[in-house]
Amino acid sequence: MKEFDYVIIGGGCAGLSLAYELEIHNKLKEKSLAIIENRNEYKRDKTWSFWKVFDHNFEDCVIKSWNNFTINTSKNSHELSSSKFPYQSIDSGKFYKKVNSKLSCNSNISFFKNLSEINSTNSIIFNSIFNGEKNKSELWQHFQGVEIETSKDIFDDKILNLMDFNCDQRKDVHFFYTLPFSRNRALIETTWLSDLENQSLRDYDLQLENYIKNNLAIKNYKINFIEKGTIPLFYPSIENKNKVINIGSAGGMTRLSTGYTFLNIQEHSKYLRENFEKINSKKIYHLGKKYQFLDKIFLQVLKNNPEKMPEIFYKMFQNSANTVIKFLSNKSNIFDDFKIISKMPKIIFIKALINR
Ligand SMILES: Cc1cc2nc3c(=O)[nH]c(=O)nc-3n(C[C@H](O)[C@H](O)[C@H](O)COP(=O)(O)OP(=O)(O)OC[C@H]3O[C@@H](n4cnc5c(N)ncnc54)[C@H](O)[C@@H]3O)c2cc1C
Repeated sequence: MKEFDYVIIGGGCAGLSLAYELEIHNKLKEKSLAIIENRNEYKRDKTWSFWKVFDHNFEDCVIKSWNNFTINTSKNSHELSSSKFPYQSIDSGKFYKKVNSKLSCNSNISFFKNLSEINSTNSIIFNSIFNGEKNKSELWQHFQGVEIETSKDIFDDKILNLMDFNCDQRKDVHFFYTLPFSRNRALIETTWLSDLENQSLRDYDLQLENYIKNNLAIKNYKINFIEKGTIPLFYPSIENKNKVINIGSAGGMTRLSTGYTFLNIQEHSKYLRENFEKINSKKIYHLGKKYQFLDKIFLQVLKNNPEKMPEIFYKMFQNSANTVIKFLSNKSNIFDDFKIISKMPKIIFIKALINR
C-alpha cells in the first residue's frame, strides 16, 4: 500500500481549507498528501456565513455581503450597521469546486474513500472526524434552512435578520434567521439551541412553513435548496494522539456560544501552514482561553434560563455593532469584553459562575 507524508481525514470544510492553504503556499511540491473522504460527490450542502474580520482565501465563493443586520424579540427590534466588518455568505458548492479544481493540478495529492486503502503508519494525520451525534444530552445548535424564491420582489436585500425570537420557544431557545441573497431569493432557517433528545423540536418543515406564511407574509414561493445541520456546542472528547492533529469542529474550531466555525477553520489552516515543517512540536491551536471561559458561563446561563435568552441576546446587541462582532468573532479586546459583560443581567451570570 502506498505511503503518504500527510493524511487529511475528512475532505469537508476544514480538510479542504487546509489542503488549499498548503497547496497555494507550495507546501506540497515535494510532499505527498492523501485526503480521505467518503462522500460520493461534492455539491452544495451548506451555506457558511460569518463576519469578515480578516481576509480569507474564498472571497470568490461569497454569494452575498451585508453591512446591516437586525435582531428582534416579540417586543423589540434593533438594527446594527458595520461597514468595517461585513457579514458574508459562502456557497459550499462554489467552495468545493474551487478547492478541488486547484488540488487536482497537483499529482502529489490523492483522494481515497477509506483510510484502510493507504499505509498511514508514518504519516502526520490531520483529522476532522468525530462522532458527536452520540452525545445527545449535550447542547447543540440544530437547524434547517430553505432557500426560497418568490415571483415578486419581496425582500430588502440590504439587511439580514440575524435572530428573530418572535416565535414559539417551546421552553428551549429558538429563533429564525433570514439571509436575503436578492430581492426575490432568501435563505430562511429555523434554529434551536437545545439537546438532541427532544424529537418534537424537529418538525422543521412545519416551523418554516408557518414562519414564511405568518411572519414574513409570503404565500407563494418555490424552494431551491434545503440545508439541515447540527453543530456541537461542546468540545469533542477526542484523544490527542502523537502525529494526529485534530482540525475543524473535531479540533475545537466551533465558537461554542455561536456555532460560528468557518473563519476559525481558516485561521487554524494558516497556523498549520505557517508551522507545517515542525507541526508536531507546536502547541495545539485553540480559540483562546478567555472565550472558552466566557462561553462556558454563557451556555450555563442558557441551560438554566432558556426563557431569558431572547432578552439576553437582544441586550448583547445593544452595544456598537463592531464591539459585538469582534466579541462573537474572537477578536475583542478587554474594553469590548467589559462592554458586553456590562449589558448582561448580573445575578444569573454570577450564579452560573459559582455553579460552574
Ligand atoms: C448545514 C450547516 C451549516 C453551517 N453553517 C455555518 C455558518 O453559517 N457559519 C459557520 O461559521 N459555521 C457553520 N457551520 C458549522 C461549520 O462551519 C461546518 O460544520 C463545517 O463544515 C465544519 O467543518 P469540518 O471540516 O469540521 O466538518 P465537515 O465540513 O462536516 O467535514 C467533515 C468531512 O468528513 C467526511 N467524513 C465523515 N465521516 C467520514 C469517514 N468515516 N471517512 C471519511 N470521510 C468522512 C464528511 O463527508 C465531510 O466531508 C454549519 C454547519 C452545518 C452542518
